[in-house]
Amino acid sequence: MGSIQAIRGTRDILPEEVGYWQWVESIARDILSRAAYQEIRTPIFELTTLFERGIGETTDVVGKEMYTFKSRGENPYSMTLRPEGTAGVVRSYIEHALDVKSGIQRLWYLGPMFRYEAPQKGRQRQFHQLGVEVLGTADSRADAEVIAIATDILQTLGLKNLRMDINSVGNPEDRQRYRQALVDYLTPYKEELDPDSQVRLSRNPLRILDSKDRETQAIVQNAPSILDYLSADSGRYFEQIQARLDDLGIAYQLNPRLVRGLDYYTHIAFEIISDDLGAQATVCGGGRYDGLVAELGGPKTPAVGWAMGLERLIILLQQLQEAPVPALDFYVVSRGEKAESQALQLAQKLRQAGFSVDLDLSGSAFKKQFARADRSGAVACLVLGEEEAENQTVKLKWMASKEQSAIAQSELLGTIEELRQQIKVKR
Ligand code: ATP
Ligand code: MG
Repeated sequence: MGSIQAIRGTRDILPEEVGYWQWVESIARDILSRAAYQEIRTPIFELTTLFERGIGETTDVVGKEMYTFKSRGENPYSMTLRPEGTAGVVRSYIEHALDVKSGIQRLWYLGPMFRYEAPQKGRQRQFHQLGVEVLGTADSRADAEVIAIATDILQTLGLKNLRMDINSVGNPEDRQRYRQALVDYLTPYKEELDPDSQVRLSRNPLRILDSKDRETQAIVQNAPSILDYLSADSGRYFEQIQARLDDLGIAYQLNPRLVRGLDYYTHIAFEIISDDLGAQATVCGGGRYDGLVAELGGPKTPAVGWAMGLERLIILLQQLQEAPVPALDFYVVSRGEKAESQALQLAQKLRQAGFSVDLDLSGSAFKKQFARADRSGAVACLVLGEEEAENQTVKLKWMASKEQSAIAQSELLGTIEELRQQIKVKR
């Protein structure tokens, strides 16, 4: 019988790669907590209606990408593996009345998302998103802040060749006027549009603007710009966000074709794009969604947020540098029953004292253990043979300089602070 493999569109993150993930996660956690964002963890599956209402039935995600199935039990209902994070966060926000408890909420999440898509580089069926949502304020500082946090994370990771597109889709009335103008412009070209776009012309014409079809793109080039249809207030709001981004030294370019077609998306929309990713170029996408909380049955609540695709981020990091390896202080080598037992105790005590310690469990010849110690990247090697075990000593060998000395085991544990200093210096 053949062996079982991971399902198409999913993949294992092996130890050799996981360093990237942990690095991204720790940088994100750090930046987000310094900005007073709190983590929220919502379930991986939710009622299907949450996504139908929260993402919109005319979107590709709801129309063709969801993993939907029936629950068990006597009155089965339809449930769906979450294809994105915002709907669940908003559901939770409403369910727990987070607005009443503490006013403006700054939240972030990280976890797997599921979409039935054609797998390719940077596109999977199970993938991971890091996302933030700021709920309860329409202040343009919130828009600028979430964008600044996204750029901070990407910059701290050392990513280059990124650019940001921004646009405003105004308020629902602005968009209604624009929608009409767009339909008026596109209708004479109807037969030349790609089949999907022809359907969208009546259902959700704004989405035609991001069609990937060449011919449609050419037609769309000369379409009216939504920026010409913003009300004075919406225009001012958008200018204010741009001024704040300028103040923060964040670069962007206007892209009037960057739109989201649904009514609860309002005002700013933005994307951070990499030129080093090929076809799957968008690393981060976000915007304001002042209508969503009410759409999902909550109080009228303005909100803004973004989501980052971590697989794409990590592809970029892999192009830049080797996977970060965790720092190791000691590699412990031992041979002989008594020495092995003392080595186990010593390793445990050093770990409890805050050092990172790899204990060689192989029982193989010293030579092989030393070779592994060399490869381990440890700052120092601790050696326990029969002689050391007999005398309750340990050989301490600094890997870089090869200096070594024999110390009483009790002394090693007694001079932890000194050891810490030495490790710092030798690293
Ligand atoms: P795309 O146009 O690439 O399909 P999207 O508009 O569907 O992206 P969003 O729903 O805005 O993407 O999700 C935010 C980010 O999540 C994307 O910019 C991307 O980095 C990542 N992402 C989305 N779908 C996938 C996927 N199937 N596999 C890997 N990453 C994904
Ligand atoms: Mg998509």
